[in-house]
Amino acid sequence: MADCEMIAKCIFFNDKMADKPGTAEMMKRTYCKGTFAKCARYLVCKKLGREKVPSDLFPIQMDRALALMK
Ligand code: SF4
Repeated sequence: MADCEMIAKCIFFNDKMADKPGTAEMMKRTYCKGTFAKCARYLVCKKLGREKVPSDLFPIQMDRALALMK
C-alpha cells in the first residue's frame, strides 16, 4: 500500500503530538502506511487546509473530523 502524502510534515507521524497514545505505532501502520484516505487528519487537511487540522486530532477521530468539516 502507498504511504500517505502528508507523512513528511504530519505531526502525528513524526511524534510531535503532546499526548502520544500507546496505539500510535499501530495507527501509523493502519493509516499512514495504509488506508490514509480514512484518516481524520488527512481528510481535514485535504478539505480545510493543513492549518485547520487540530494539533490533538488523531487519525482515528473521524467523528471529530466530520464535525469540523460540516
Ligand atoms: S495518514 Fe493521517 S496521521 Fe498519517 S501521515 Fe497521513 S495525515 Fe498524518
